[in-house]
Amino acid sequence: MGVLIMCRVCKTKVPMDNMRYDDNGEDLICNDCYNKRHGTYVAPKSTAPEKRVVLNKPTERTRHEDDFEKKQNEDKVTFVCEKCKFKFSRKSGFPVNQCPYCSSTYIKEV
Ligand SMILES: [Zn+2]
Ligand SMILES: [Zn+2]
Repeated sequence: MGVLIMCRVCKTKVPMDNMRYDDNGEDLICNDCYNKRHGTYVAPKSTAPEKRVVLNKPTERTRHEDDFEKKQNEDKVTFVCEKCKFKFSRKSGFPVNQCPYCSSTYIKEV
């Protein structure tokens, strides 16, 4: 701990925690230089907590929404899209004129 190592690129002395090997597996360089080379942010372990970004899968989104709505439900009307057969439900009285999945207007009440 507390050991400073000189970056092979910018010659700055940096704590070991803020260093990493370049892609050749030999040169120790500082995170700044690594980021400049590779464009990926590497957070120093000591400071920033790791953030995980969960990416939405766009194609599955409407189906999950639909499941969620069914669980909540009291007064729901189920519709089915004539074109893609996608089923979804909306509050009764809520105007439905488009399939949320394929945007088709061929909607039938089930
Ligand atoms: Zn450097
Ligand atoms: Zn549809």
